[in-house]
Amino acid sequence: MNGPLCTGHSSRTGLPCQKQPIKGSTVCRNHGGSTPQVKRAAEKRLAQQSTMQAIGKALIAENTEVTADPLQSLMRMVQTSAWAERAYAQKISADLGDDVLTTIYTEGGSYKKAHPYLELWNEERDRLAKFSKLALDAGVAEKQLKVEIAQIELMASALDASLDEAGISAEQRFTILQGMAKRLKTGDSRAGAE
Ligand SMILES: [Zn+2]
Repeated sequence: MNGPLCTGHSSRTGLPCQKQPIKGSTVCRNHGGSTPQVKRAAEKRLAQQSTMQAIGKALIAENTEVTADPLQSLMRMVQTSAWAERAYAQKISADLGDDVLTTIYTEGGSYKKAHPYLELWNEERDRLAKFSKLALDAGVAEKQLKVEIAQIELMASALDASLDEAGISAEQRFTILQGMAKRLKTGDSRAGAE
């Protein structure tokens, strides 16, 4: 597969480089692709891509429905992020055992460095916390709304019962309830008293 070429330029001719970039990066070995930072970033990008691809496939298989419901969309973000967080954590724990550092083997020997997925895991945990907070806020608001509606209904039925006891006629009761509804709607206790 031939993707876009290296974004570097020849220092001699100034022309665009004709080489393939290293996997997960935009530059070839001669244009920074062999430096540890570029290699690390490429490794991270590839790991993230393959993880998100697997999660995307699983999510689509599980639920093909497209939703425009904001709360449902938010819950899907939480779900995706939670899956990614678990996937990274599992990969790290499978590779590391009790060691925080992973051993990298090269031609020159071996050295230890932080697991390449560690950064991804931390980022995903932050994302998961953010999405969860948003969902929680949205969910809590909805719950509060339900409590308020339940309270209004309770009030109305209590009022209805006391009007019954006071022997108020159906017509009078209708007028009183209408006034109540108007006040509840505007949030003004004096509304309808014109
Ligand atoms: Zn190049």
